[in-house]
Amino acid sequence: MSTQLTSSFPKPLEKLSEIEIKRKACIAKVMTYTLGNLTSQFVRNGFEWLLPVALSQSTDPLWPDPGASIEKRIEIDIYGKTVRTTASMIIHKLIASSIAYPKLFILSPNIRIEKPDRAKTGLHIYEFSQLDFEIRDATSKYVMNLVENSIQDLITNLQKDMKKELITLCTYDTIKIPKIPFKIYDRCDLEAKYGEKWETEISEKSSDPIWITNIPREFYDYEDFETKEWDNYDLFLPKYGEVLSGAKREWEYSKILKKIERDKINKENYKLVLQLSKEGKIKPTSGGGIGLERLVGWISGVKHIAETQPFPRIPGWVHEL
Ligand code: ATP
Ligand code: ASP
Ligand code: MG
Repeated sequence: MSTQLTSSFPKPLEKLSEIEIKRKACIAKVMTYTLGNLTSQFVRNGFEWLLPVALSQSTDPLWPDPGASIEKRIEIDIYGKTVRTTASMIIHKLIASSIAYPKLFILSPNIRIEKPDRAKTGLHIYEFSQLDFEIRDATSKYVMNLVENSIQDLITNLQKDMKKELITLCTYDTIKIPKIPFKIYDRCDLEAKYGEKWETEISEKSSDPIWITNIPREFYDYEDFETKEWDNYDLFLPKYGEVLSGAKREWEYSKILKKIERDKINKENYKLVLQLSKEGKIKPTSGGGIGLERLVGWISGVKHIAETQPFPRIPGWVHEL
């Protein structure tokens, strides 16, 4: 099924008018600035910058996914083994930060063939990038504080150095320097208050970035089996939506195994992380991933985040480039 490209969707480069090319160039400047600012902050804070991988046997299962948004998973055979395109580098992060790089980040390419109706959300593309990071022995609180400082620093400097671009994009007056710490909400309370549409309701109602914790997710996020609470966190931007997901992680073999089995995930694809956790080589870590197109889309005030991409990846629509 293909998506009908209407005027509300971002166009490919060769279809842009002069004025639209100027806007596209302005967004590229904001993207360049954002990448420079965030990567410099992580390097300054002692993180190693790892280069990404695109094909591996183990990738993010993206399951259980309450939104069940993936239409197709890409698997190919190379050298007699089945590999998958990177959905996220979460498994790589757990192993790499446990063994060799206690503080790491990666500008990671994520391929998620979202269902075509996700084209309409304005927040989904089928190829995107995360600034994905992981820290050995860190708590959730430490990560949340690090992210709050990074976002505050980014917005403060953007307003100084990218004033002209933000004025052109009409966001100079709307994107405020956020006060920290950000407010924290428990997902259970939001569900009780707003029902199943809590994500959209809370995004519309908030005028500052907020954290939402305790979200049931994939096996790698830490879950307290007694209280049934999840030690994880999503960052939501005002009038927009989710821009980061992260968590304290599971590291104990018995819990990882139990959750993989509970989620009915193919153990074969997670052999290494299971083996390493059995040997006690997976360490407690915490981390998260910032969706870069979403972050820059919010700063730039785009209607659809594919506008931040030189080669738009709109669900349901395939272009020659
Ligand atoms: P959503 O619920 O919005 O579909 P998700 O919770 O499934 O997203 P995660 O698996 O948490 O996404 O991915 C980490 C981050 O990557 C998200 O917080 C978001 O910023 C970004 N992201 C996820 N899916 C997409 C997508 N299809 N297009 C662009 N960015 C995405
Ligand atoms: N990057 C996310 C995390 O660190 C994982 C994901 O992409 O879902 O938790
Ligand atoms: Mg998420």
